[in-house]
Amino acid sequence: MASHKTVKDYIRTIADFPHEGIMFRDVTTLFADPRGLRIAVDQLLHPYAGRPIDCVVGLEARGFILGGAVAHQLGIGFVPIRKKGKLPGPVISEAYTLEYGEAVVEVHDDAIDPGARVLVVDDLLATGGTAEAGIKLVERLGGEVVGCAFVIDLPELGGRGKLEAMGMDVHALCA
Ligand code: AMP
Repeated sequence: MASHKTVKDYIRTIADFPHEGIMFRDVTTLFADPRGLRIAVDQLLHPYAGRPIDCVVGLEARGFILGGAVAHQLGIGFVPIRKKGKLPGPVISEAYTLEYGEAVVEVHDDAIDPGARVLVVDDLLATGGTAEAGIKLVERLGGEVVGCAFVIDLPELGGRGKLEAMGMDVHALCA
């Protein structure tokens, strides 16, 4: 009989990781399951299939796994946005605020063509700070973000509101 498990059913929640009070949504159990991985990737790309999109931008690190699969399925290329100091070529950087301190993300300065239509992919949207920094990098290179796709949206943390206020189309599979 066909499985009726949803994407959310494959995700494990681990309390107090990496800090006390954080409910960590662990997608390794989703990725490890052949059906879970397939339905997550299929549902992520579903609103974008058949639309003109030039590349997928994935946010480190779980956005690489999902974004690579989405890019392969859409038949387009993949561009990584990485944490500071990981990319070998010339980069542009964006700093953003974390719960404790600041983080910096980077992209190769020639990775996105001006006018390119870009789909941003990550596993989880919380405060939206990571995705906002990624969107700014794409836009600074002249790209146009046509959508932001996440497996999980934690709406109470405000990320969806922040991205929608920037005019972004936000797609998420579960809360
Ligand atoms: P934010 O910038 O606050 O939207 O946080 C999103 C980034 O942090 C994503 O790359 C997530 O992988 C990670 N993240 C934030 N909160 C969680 C959580 N509760 N469980 C798992 N990952 C999280």
